[in-house]
Amino acid sequence: MTELKTIIPPDSRVKGLLGRGRGGDGPLRWTSFLLRLPVEEGVLLYNSLTLELLLVPGELASELEAPGTALREALHRRWFLVPPELDEHGLVREIRQTLRLMNPPAPWITKYTVLTTTACNARCAYCFEEGWSPRTMSLETADRLADYMLAHSAGHPFGIDWFGGEPLVNRRAMDRICTRLHNAGAGFKSVMTTNGYLLDPETIRADAALWQLWACQITLDGREEAYNRIKNYIYPGVNAYRRVRGNIHAMTEAGVKVTIRMNFDLSNLEEISLLTEELIEEFRGESRVLVTPIILYEKEGPGAKPRTPETRQALQEAQQKLLDRLEAGGLNRPARLPRTQNFHMCMADSGDKLTVFPDGEIGLCEQHNRSNLIGHLDSPELDGAAMQRACALRPEIPACGDCPLFPGCIRLDICPNQICHPQRRAAREEQKRNSIRYEWEQYKLKTGGSRHE
Ligand code: SF4
Ligand code: SF4
Repeated sequence: MTELKTIIPPDSRVKGLLGRGRGGDGPLRWTSFLLRLPVEEGVLLYNSLTLELLLVPGELASELEAPGTALREALHRRWFLVPPELDEHGLVREIRQTLRLMNPPAPWITKYTVLTTTACNARCAYCFEEGWSPRTMSLETADRLADYMLAHSAGHPFGIDWFGGEPLVNRRAMDRICTRLHNAGAGFKSVMTTNGYLLDPETIRADAALWQLWACQITLDGREEAYNRIKNYIYPGVNAYRRVRGNIHAMTEAGVKVTIRMNFDLSNLEEISLLTEELIEEFRGESRVLVTPIILYEKEGPGAKPRTPETRQALQEAQQKLLDRLEAGGLNRPARLPRTQNFHMCMADSGDKLTVFPDGEIGLCEQHNRSNLIGHLDSPELDGAAMQRACALRPEIPACGDCPLFPGCIRLDICPNQICHPQRRAAREEQKRNSIRYEWEQYKLKTGGSRHE
């Protein structure tokens, strides 16, 4: 018998809160949170609220719009079809709120972002920290931070994200913190955002073990000549590009995953396309390397010059083209679809993650620094009111009204990187469709396409 196929079941918590589809005796419409994707075998339907992915086989596709069929009844029970008057946005807000209440933050700190220094050994013009006066963590503060971590872990493992500046400029602080944590028997793992220059291929295995490092992110802004010019390291006469590339190999050999980030806008797009080819040639088949092209942030607020729609469109198209090329070269793949619904945006509204600055100040997010401080290593209490304020959402924009991404789109008022424009939204929808296609391909590989309703 030809039936609906469940490719990904719904998030059970959302399903539990929603119950069975409402209404049903009268007319029905498609949910606003629907993404549809025709495939050879039929039509894939994705509900971005329940997170369920279904295949309607080709033989049934003609019944999708025919009222009163068993297919439509099944889709109504699963919230793909809803009564026309249903306030779906109100429903999402209620569900988010309930999920937050049902899943309070852990009563210990699960992750620390640690700025060992705001100094850097490179001098990139686009760096968001340009203009900061460098501050570097003292060994005494490093000791206090390790003690704070031990006191606030309640015996649970936690994560550390080494950040800067360039964190390795102050690796003494990293070593000191980790040694103290090891001596106390703490369980922790770390990741690092670094330019990779100060790593040493000879000692990297031992360093990774000391820091419990399992992943790092390294930015490459171009091939050899462009990279050396843009990074403009403080060491005269070095070929930083070759050194960093060598260190990427050393990291993967030591078992560390490396994400290579390529920042671009239209001014360096050609260089980034050439770098992409070079990276594919060098790292193809290296499962520990992922390459990701990132459009340079568009600034908002007073004094910012918004990009034109044409520029935004060109950038989004360029990003997709780079992603397609990297995917074909085995260095990227579409994101998997989430299995559980989002009710936080990031560390800033998590309630159990902190950022620690070089002088011991505690904040919510590395990007906001001074304006988001909520405490200090020396004081026992965090500013609960400031933590609550960080959860405030940006007002919805008119385009949210018919946006299928709305249930998973959380934008914090305090975040400077949340601009939404039609080109970005269209690109995000396209990326979601790519993820749907990828899930379907994975499903077929795993099951031979045989799991029926
Ligand atoms: S902010 Fe943009 S992506 Fe998010 S729901 Fe609104 S229109 Fe969609
Ligand atoms: S910059 Fe925005 S997304 Fe990033 S951690 Fe801060 S608030 Fe969250």
